[in-house]
Parts: sequence; structure tokens; C-alpha cells
Amino acid sequence: MDLVAGSFQEPVAPEGVIEDRSPADLSLLLGRHPWSLAQVELAVSAARGAQPAFAALPQADRVRLVRRIGAVLEEHEEELARAIALDVGKPLWEARSEAQACSAKAAITADEGAKLVAPFPAPGQPGAECRFRPLGVVAVLGPFNFPVHLPNGHVLPALLCGNAVVLKPSEVAPHAAGTYARCLQEAGVPPGVFNLVQGGAGSGQALAAHPGVDGVLFTGSWAVGQAIRRANQGQTKLLALEMGGKNAAIVLPDADPEKAAYDVLFSAFVSAGQRCTAASRAVVVGDARRFAARIAALAKTLSIGHPLDEGVFMGPLASPAALEKFERAVKDADAECLLESRRLRPRGLDGCYATPSLHFVAERRGGSYERDELFGPDLAVYPASSEEEAVEIANTTDYGLAASVHTASEAAFDRCQRALACGVVNWNAPTVGASGRLPFGGLKRSGNHRPAALWSTLYCADPVAVLRGEPSLDRAKLAPGIAWVDE
Ligand code: NAD
Repeated sequence: MDLVAGSFQEPVAPEGVIEDRSPADLSLLLGRHPWSLAQVELAVSAARGAQPAFAALPQADRVRLVRRIGAVLEEHEEELARAIALDVGKPLWEARSEAQACSAKAAITADEGAKLVAPFPAPGQPGAECRFRPLGVVAVLGPFNFPVHLPNGHVLPALLCGNAVVLKPSEVAPHAAGTYARCLQEAGVPPGVFNLVQGGAGSGQALAAHPGVDGVLFTGSWAVGQAIRRANQGQTKLLALEMGGKNAAIVLPDADPEKAAYDVLFSAFVSAGQRCTAASRAVVVGDARRFAARIAALAKTLSIGHPLDEGVFMGPLASPAALEKFERAVKDADAECLLESRRLRPRGLDGCYATPSLHFVAERRGGSYERDELFGPDLAVYPASSEEEAVEIANTTDYGLAASVHTASEAAFDRCQRALACGVVNWNAPTVGASGRLPFGGLKRSGNHRPAALWSTLYCADPVAVLRGEPSLDRAKLAPGIAWVDE
């Protein structure tokens, strides 16, 4: 179902149907979602109609609305978590933290995000001030791996700033997106201010390139981010692009070996490796073979199963397509395989389950396995002879999202942090940890210099410089050369 102009509706002339099956058990049909491009038109038009009145409300009203959305999301946390777990296969413990992050985002947006777009005077210049105006109508395009938290991370700041929103969620997770949309409706978002359009790449394309859309807030792959850039050439809309990663964990010889192994294991295989910040490379200064063998042994112990089962660390990959893409990538890996991935049928379930794989890259050849984002449970271990070489290996990528450095030395961490071309650098912590109270975004192919998280309100509003003049003419202050003649 779509949500357009305040009512849930089926598209009038559907062009196709998304059959939403759970990757946990493909026999479980979560819903059928007809889609049509005409819905994109209707949703953009509803948003354009509703936006001016919404933007005219006092900012305090929108802050209250965002807080109310947070409260409703919190009330429905368990429902959201189960929808996420079944839609994309995340274990319930992880899906619960995604649902909790959604209500936390409301508080961060209302408390901290609002301050970033509050009007402020120019220091020492009376009458000069900066105000902020909303972009207008924004399209939010979501990825499958955080199907609610990441769209919500754009939706709430966009609403707070006075924009109207059209959300096109991932076609892998229409059920979770529908649950989220019902929460916003319950919180009392005015009709047309938040719209949901289900669909796949075609709907995303139509929405992102729509001339009635003033900003595209996109989270997804580099390839689709590029397609959005190309589709908008010659247009003036704002593009906030949060894209992929090829993230490295650097392990230095003085690191606690067990803590480093735990952090790397977690970073590589949580969410079945389907996080933009997942560690796909571990660069080890010291005995890299021993470190790789330790990770391989630990990876074999991970509990893989149905996302709603207790004690499961890793669920299935998010869809048959994601599983097949992962299998192709590891089959073609140009590196020594230390642990081979295989399909699993926990409890006899017909789902998208795969065990982790691990490779050792003794010689760097720069092929696709080393360069491209793999987005599945695989880790490549690289030996390095020095801290400098480790940083050089970590930076040998077109991406620049996250990294971690495992060392007892603060000075060594500081040196690595300064040298790493990444937007997130963690010390003795997994690559996947990020704070919603800090800016979040990547360099190079990982982003386009519009960091999200704390700073998301900044790309949802345009700063306007305002100078206040005298209301009446002061003849003593005329510019030289103007001989004022009274009427
Ligand atoms: P994707 O790029 O395939 O799809 C993302 C969204 O774009 C989906 O809603 C999809 O339907 C839509 N889309 C597809 N083609 C489109 C087009 N031509 N025009 C407009 N929209 C289109 O990404 P995915 O597979 O859903 O998610 C995984 C990717 O997302 C990975 O690359 C991951 O690293 C990235 N990601 C990045 C972040 C971040 O914050 N940097 C966070 C999570 C995921």
C-alpha cells in the first residue's frame, strides 16, 4: 500500500507487484505491493500541495511533531523490530536496536538538529542574520539493510525543517516501510506532508529525477548514486548521497589480540556483512596468518538461524538476489580461501542462509575482490609490514566510509586517523559503531560531502543571509555621486 495525501491506497493502474517474501523462509509471504509510476506523480503533487502551509507553521510546532513521531515509534518498537527482522532477515536483537535508533533520532533531531538550523545573528554586525528555509519537497530513497532507520534518518530532519517528503523504500522491505508509515500517520503528520510510494528501481528513478522534487536524500550503492547524479544533470536539486564502503580494520602488533579479534569478527559478520560500515578487510601488522586462523575458527562458531529465534548472531542475507550476488563475488575472489562459505538450511528452512567466508590476500593484485563492495559475510585478511603500509593498504580503495585501528597506543591511533581517508575512524572498536550525535558520512565513492546523522538538518534547509536596512531614507548617507532630487 502507498500513503498519498493522507490516505493508504492501492495504485489505480498497477504496472507490477512486489511479492514480499521473508529471506528467513521464502515460503512466508509478507505481502503483495502493487506499484505504478502514476503513484509517484500523485505523491509529488500531494507533497507540493501540502508543503507551503507546513513550512509556514512555527518551528516549535514541527519540533513537537518530531517528538510525537518519536513517541509513537517507541510505542511500536517491537512491531517495527519484528517487521524489520522478517523483511530483511536481521536477528531480532539487531532489529530491536534499529527500531530504538528511530525514536532516538527523533530526540536528537528535536534537541540538537534543530539548533543547527536556528537563525543566528552575524557576530558584531547588527541587522545581519542567517535564517534557514526548507528545500521544498524532498525524495527519500532507502536501502534494504537498514530499511527503517536510514530513511527515518532523513525523514525526521526534513520534516523538522518544513519540507514535505516522498519516501520510496527498498523493494526488499516494503512491509517494514509500511509499518513505519502507519506510525507517522498515527503521530498526526498532516496529509500530504509525508507520502510513501512502494516500488523498485523504476519508481526510484522517476522520483529522483522528478522536476517537482527539490532534494534527493539517498542511501544506497555507489552505482545507483551515480545514476541519480546523471539523471539530475542540468537540474538544480540538492543531492545528499550516502553510499557504499570497502572498510578496513587495522590491527597493530600492540593490540590486545582477543579484543581485536572480537571487534573484527563482529564488524565483518554482523548483519551477515550487509552494513555500509562492515569491515571487509583486516590489515594486520605482525602475524597475519595467525590472526586470520583465529577469525576463521571463531567464524565457524557463529550461530546462524531464523531471525526470530533466540541466540542467533547472524540471520539470512536479505534476499535471494543478495545471496546469489555474494556467492558470485566470493567464487571469483582472487585470493587464498581459508574458510569457504556454504548455504545452510537451519531447522530445514528454505531461506537465504550462508556461512561466513575468509580469504588471505598475500599478494595484492587490485582485482574486483579487493576493490568492490561485496556486501556479504566475507573478510579478507592482508599482511602488512608496518603501520605505514597498513594505512596505505587501507586507503587503496575508491571508497572512504569507515575504518578502525586496534592498538594500545593513542599516538599510533592519532597518526592512523590523520592518514586514513575516511569519514568514520574508530579506536579499539568495531568499524560498524557510529554515533547519531556526530556527523556521519564518507569520502570518495562513499558520499558527496553532505554528512548525515547529527548534521542531517543542514542539508534539509538552505541558509539565507538577511541584512536589515533603515526603513526610511537618510539623505546624509547617500552614496557619492547621487544628487538626490525631491519629488
Ligand atoms: P541500492 O543502491 O541498490 O538501492 C537503494 C535504493 O535506490 C532502493 O530504494 C532502490 O529501489 C533505489 N534505486 C535503484 N535504482 C535506482 C535508480 N536508478 N534511481 C533511483 N533510485 C534507484 O542499494 P541497496 O542494495 O538497497 O543497499 C545496499 C547499499 O547501500 C550498499 O552499497 C551499502 O553500502 C549502501 N548503504 C550506505 C549507507 C551509508 O550511510 N553510507 C548506509 C546503508 C547502506
